[in-house]
Amino acid sequence: MTRLSDSFQRPLNYLRVSVTDRCNLRCVYCMPPEGIPLLSHEEILHYEEICTIAQAAAELGIVKMRLTGGEPLVRSGLTNLVAMLSQIRGIDDISLTTNAELLERFAADLKSAGLHRVNVSLDSLRSDRFQSITRVGRLDNVLRGIGAAKNAGLGPVKTNTVVIRGVNDDEVIAFAQLTIEEDWHVRFIEYMPFANGDDAADDLLVPISEIKRNIETLGRLEPTYDSGGGPAKYFRLQGSKGTIGFISPVSEHFCASCNRLRLTADGKLRPCLFSDDEIDLRGPLRDGAGVGDIKRLIREAASCKPEGHLLKIGVSCERFMAQIGG
Ligand code: SAM
Ligand code: SF4
Repeated sequence: MTRLSDSFQRPLNYLRVSVTDRCNLRCVYCMPPEGIPLLSHEEILHYEEICTIAQAAAELGIVKMRLTGGEPLVRSGLTNLVAMLSQIRGIDDISLTTNAELLERFAADLKSAGLHRVNVSLDSLRSDRFQSITRVGRLDNVLRGIGAAKNAGLGPVKTNTVVIRGVNDDEVIAFAQLTIEEDWHVRFIEYMPFANGDDAADDLLVPISEIKRNIETLGRLEPTYDSGGGPAKYFRLQGSKGTIGFISPVSEHFCASCNRLRLTADGKLRPCLFSDDEIDLRGPLRDGAGVGDIKRLIREAASCKPEGHLLKIGVSCERFMAQIGG
């Protein structure tokens, strides 16, 4: 088998799948308060269609899949999808990115179905602030969800914190401190200023360099494990049990090592998060395309992957982040 790679010789082995554009939260950096125009039921890929695409992708060398959204846990039967994907030969790592509001209910079943790991969005450790960032979320639900995921063996559970100046940047130290005594794996993500998100303003971005400097007031950050081609760089405070990851899509983008394709909930393959070029798979699938045809389209998408992006303040994107999945 010729392994999938793009025109710049970057191997592609990771597929992120948005299973729904619906979400039970309304995070200020991701969605307007009224939500986004939703896809109809017919427009969303069926689970069988996702599995045909996953089968084709696996035959091309994709080994990792991440389910995301919108909020993946609001789509009914997600556990069944995980079980179906876990039967596909070659896919050896299935993970989930979730806001964890519903995770307590599903964690054990997801583990039994074959899910390996979860990443949880967690932008504040203060209930009132958590609620104002997510507009409707409940911090206690999320913390119980994280506990349930750890108990179910869906570890290491990583948390994702989008750091926004004047909103939650004063909690960076509190998040970092969580890693000292317990095996918390916290990751800080630079706020990506999409013009079609909430306030796309220059001064909301806190560069990772500044976040790191703040954390270093607690002690030296030692580089730890390699993220295997992923965008995060991982560190540990000396002697601590957990890790701290940094993701800097704006100040220091990681295009040179990008290893992924994205599938939107309505069945478009998106070679780059920041480019609106997409290749439709749903139409061909519903016209009878089989695994072989989908493999050809996946190769086509790989060959369209741009070398890099120039993400800058106020960049506009035809889709909301909740439609792509981050
Ligand atoms: N609902 C799930 C969740 O929140 O984890 C999955 C979908 S969400 C779109 C995926 C990731 O995108 C989350 O970690 C979220 O924090 C991140 N995200 C959304 N909008 C962002 C932005 N403007 N800048 C940085 N990260 C963003
Ligand atoms: Fe929903 Fe995730 Fe977007 Fe928040 S970041 S609104 S939880 S999709």
